[in-house]
Amino acid sequence: MNIYQKIKQIISEADGVLIGASNGLSIAEGYHLFADDAWFRERMGDFREKYGIYCILQGMAVSYSSEEERWAYFSRIIKEKCLQDEPTQIMKDMYELVKEKDYFVVTSNGEDHFIPAGFEEERVFEMEGKLTEMRCTKGCCDEVYPDREAVLRMAEAETDGRVPERLLPRCPKCGGSMEVNYGEYSSFQGKKNWQEKAARYQGFVNRMRGKKLVILEFGVGWRNQMIKMPFMQLTAAEPHAKYITFNKGEIYIPDGIQGKSIGVDQDIAAALREIVKVG
Ligand SMILES: [Zn+2]
Repeated sequence: MNIYQKIKQIISEADGVLIGASNGLSIAEGYHLFADDAWFRERMGDFREKYGIYCILQGMAVSYSSEEERWAYFSRIIKEKCLQDEPTQIMKDMYELVKEKDYFVVTSNGEDHFIPAGFEEERVFEMEGKLTEMRCTKGCCDEVYPDREAVLRMAEAETDGRVPERLLPRCPKCGGSMEVNYGEYSSFQGKKNWQEKAARYQGFVNRMRGKKLVILEFGVGWRNQMIKMPFMQLTAAEPHAKYITFNKGEIYIPDGIQGKSIGVDQDIAAALREIVKVG
């Protein structure tokens, strides 16, 4: 039995599957937050030149002098990288593997690619928020709103790195400006929407106590404290848990859980394809 057959068998025998995903999954899907890659140069070249930014993340940190400029940047990124017409094969394959199972997804990725691929909204926890939602800049309330329509309208009408003022989204409660609901983990912990999702994650973990839980981890760095650390602790604590980590060139499995773990040091897309293809 090869490694892919083995993983397929472990998933098929599991009571539940916990998926964790971070930046390495985004990169495998072609969304690279930290790279001055061909896409960034071609599609964001005007912002790159004007603001001296060399990757998506740097552009998110710029203090733009106007809302029109800030939303021009974000609406273009969101339209091109988040609001895809079609989920990638990676996301389709991942969903295929778990769709019949009791599953839960926890991710620090903000591009919101899980739900469009079929994952239930109630089973996905975006720990750092997501770019497809917006909130009141002032924080007059805890509400978050989908930004899809506003983003598409703004991206369509953008010229010279600005969107028209009349298309800027406004807070339905206070009328003030809006910003994307995405950022540092720590800035979310007090928010209602975040806490509800965190509680569902905890509920899933509790429900899996003593059961056959499979943990699938995609592209999470070895020092990651938000996702990887709790996964490794859960694997150690749960007698029937299995931990399967996918990360090309960066597999880290502590000695204490080696016997319950599999490291897949392969391209994520290729590995998922192989697992799905196992009959
Ligand atoms: Zn408000």
